[in-house]
Amino acid sequence: MASPGQQETDAADHLFLSQAYSRLRQTVASHDGSASPHPTALAHGFSALSATAPTNDILPPSGLGRDTTITHLLSTIVPGLNGQALSSRYYGFVTGGILSVAEAADNIVSALDQNVQVHLPAHSLSTAVEDTALSMLISLLDLGPPSHWPGRTITTGATASNIMGLACGREAIIASRLGEKSSNITIAEDGLLAACHAAGIREFQVLTSMGHSSLSKAASIVGLGHRAVKELAVSEEEPWRLDLDAVERQLAREGVASIIAVSAGEVNTGRFALNALDMPKLRSLADRYGAWIHVDGAFGIFARALPKTDEFLHLHANVAGMELADSITADGHKLLNVPYDAGIFLCRDASIVTQVFQNPNAAYLASSSSNSPGPVILSPLNVGLQNSRRFRALPIYAVLLSEGRAGMETMLVRMVKLAREVARFIRDSEQYEWLPSEEASLESTHIVVLFRAKDAGLNEVLVERINETRKLYVSGTAWRGQKAARIAVSSWKVDVERDLAVIKDVLLSLAAGGS
Ligand SMILES: *Cc1c(COP(=O)(O)O)cnc(C)c1O
Repeated sequence: MASPGQQETDAADHLFLSQAYSRLRQTVASHDGSASPHPTALAHGFSALSATAPTNDILPPSGLGRDTTITHLLSTIVPGLNGQALSSRYYGFVTGGILSVAEAADNIVSALDQNVQVHLPAHSLSTAVEDTALSMLISLLDLGPPSHWPGRTITTGATASNIMGLACGREAIIASRLGEKSSNITIAEDGLLAACHAAGIREFQVLTSMGHSSLSKAASIVGLGHRAVKELAVSEEEPWRLDLDAVERQLAREGVASIIAVSAGEVNTGRFALNALDMPKLRSLADRYGAWIHVDGAFGIFARALPKTDEFLHLHANVAGMELADSITADGHKLLNVPYDAGIFLCRDASIVTQVFQNPNAAYLASSSSNSPGPVILSPLNVGLQNSRRFRALPIYAVLLSEGRAGMETMLVRMVKLAREVARFIRDSEQYEWLPSEEASLESTHIVVLFRAKDAGLNEVLVERINETRKLYVSGTAWRGQKAARIAVSSWKVDVERDLAVIKDVLLSLAAGGS
């Protein structure tokens, strides 16, 4: 039994946390809906940060105490954050928002400091919840039975999942080449150099079309290098589309091992590398030449969860056949609207995953061999980059349980509809140009709209001017060497009519010379 002193401390903690949380909710409730912080709030925050550091020693000699600290966070720091979850018109990057059930679940994770590390079914449900959440997600994305993806895990995001995809790809390719020589050399045991040498591989390449920048980072981390990533675009007009003939020519090179990285949702244009029937072709090429197919579907793979109605057939064709991939990346903190940071990795070969990510020789971390009900669950420490890690699965589980297939569909449809209405407005406007091509069908639009102002002067400052209004926030990018603006719709908060009206208003008034 806890001592009376302990109970007092617990009661004080409880009171502090309830008050801090209700003050946070008040702060959030009084947010004015702006899509970015006021410049004064930023300036105030920066000066407060430097004011706490009058000397080089920035650590306060005695602490401010938790109440004063929370007041500081809520009144000085929070107003200077971009708080993308608070506005339905934050269209920068692809950040997603956060569904309230996900936020509540994430607070449960914090309250319990829940870890997921070793599958210990006699002691914790956490690994079973994670596995259930992953199975629900596989069902949402219509990727076949969960048993099709036995090497599955929650990651910190798409970058981590891409690292896992390339790491598994290189291991599997070497294993299959060395398998023929019945050698027991692996990258996991012997390293990349020795394994490539034994397998007669002199080069590794990653074949893609407009692969996300994190793919190059992943290539560096797993020892292949940035230059291993090769762009094989169909044409200059459609650089996001993968040229299957060029892929075949690359696969046929002697002594070269290849990972094919499919961009299922390219982050700049929002377009897709493949069309219907491409995936089966790619699969047979990969099988013929012993290549690995990794799909980077960070946000785009969620097109598979849209209704199969006429208006989404184009997108369904873009993401058809993804179940034929060897591994898949998806993000949780983007379209799924769970909090940062959460990603998903799915792999069809569990033994390759555990070969690469085995945390060897740690007897104290051995899984219990209990006969728990349900599927075989691999200990998370042997299927991912981290050993101990946050219980990120709980918000994902909560969202999928709370929304179900229908709720997810409705949310995703809302995002696509707004993006298409914005694309239509831009395409039909005198002052703006819809990129990459005004001839494209609106149905090729998923959640990203790329555009620029026709007036070169306005285009030069367009992104800055839009963001200064604080009514919406867009990302600056470039298309064919010219500046461009990009809207990425990814929050559950989107309201098509209301938000479209604000976007039109801002763009028209900027074009008319207002601000
Ligand atoms: C966002 C994104 C990534 C990187 O995702 P993080 O979650 O930020 O690590 C990778 N690939 C694609 C296609 C993306 O859109």
